[in-house]
Amino acid sequence: MALNPLIPVSNPDSAFYWESAAKDRLVLRKCNACGKTHFMPRYMCPSCWSTDLEWIEACGAGVVHSYSVIHRASVPEFRDRVPYVLAMIDLAEGVQMITNIVGDDALCVQIGDPVQVCFEQRGESAKVPQFRRAPGSGAKGSSGGEQK
Ligand SMILES: [Zn+2]
Repeated sequence: MALNPLIPVSNPDSAFYWESAAKDRLVLRKCNACGKTHFMPRYMCPSCWSTDLEWIEACGAGVVHSYSVIHRASVPEFRDRVPYVLAMIDLAEGVQMITNIVGDDALCVQIGDPVQVCFEQRGESAKVPQFRRAPGSGAKGSSGGEQK
């Protein structure tokens, strides 16, 4: 029997992030004091400790920095998804994000592949930002690498 999907739990730092994701928008925190952008959302800039932050909308484009193919799910809710791809993405805005690569060709992912955000429905009202390989990325017919 398939288990219910994990639904994001927000806190005051991330509430706007998850509200935006539910509307198919990927947002990041940008510091008005030092100009740096960060992820995950925090109430204080991790670079200069300023609380003068704003939300910016990410363009959704990124590049695969690293990835791993998961064959044994860490929680029962992901048991029916294996094998799946956990990846670190370098977003165009200069921050890194841990996420999943999804789509029919997800297991063909390679480091350096361009990817684009998409939003996976979780439960009735939540969505989780995920990424798909951009068309034409990587080597055709690759069986995918592991543990890079
Ligand atoms: Zn700062």
